Amino acid sequence: VACIFCEIVAGRVPSQSVYHSEDVTAFRDIDPKAPTHILIVPNRHIAFLADVKSSDGELLARIVEVANDLARQEGIAQSGYRLVVNSGPDAGQTVAHLHVHLLGGRPMTWPPG
Ligand code: AMP
Repeated sequence: VACIFCEIVAGRVPSQSVYHSEDVTAFRDIDPKAPTHILIVPNRHIAFLADVKSSDGELLARIVEVANDLARQEGIAQSGYRLVVNSGPDAGQTVAHLHVHLLGGRPMTWPPG
């Protein structure tokens, strides 16, 4: 069974795309939990945060850079935003393709639920 986020990266499943390059893709979450809720993913399939190696460092930095750029575009850079990676069942990970949530546009509580 194909990975849903690989399908979105390839353009075979529609999404509200906000960024696409040769290494990173970003699209709006289908079930947003904040006024801005964007998912930033590596185009290459990395299933879990636990699979990340130091050789992926540049790719991770690119993901953070894209998230920061999108936060500025969304007008939430000054008020603040949160980047979240859920890893494993207790954290609520539901899609096995590494994705960073960009959340903002409202005050958030700490700790997360
Ligand atoms: P996680 O719980 O961290 O694995 O997050 C998975 C996220 O992907 C959830 O917030 C879902 O709402 C979102 N999601 C699942 N399918 C799609 C899709 N086809 N397009 C956009 N977002 C999706």
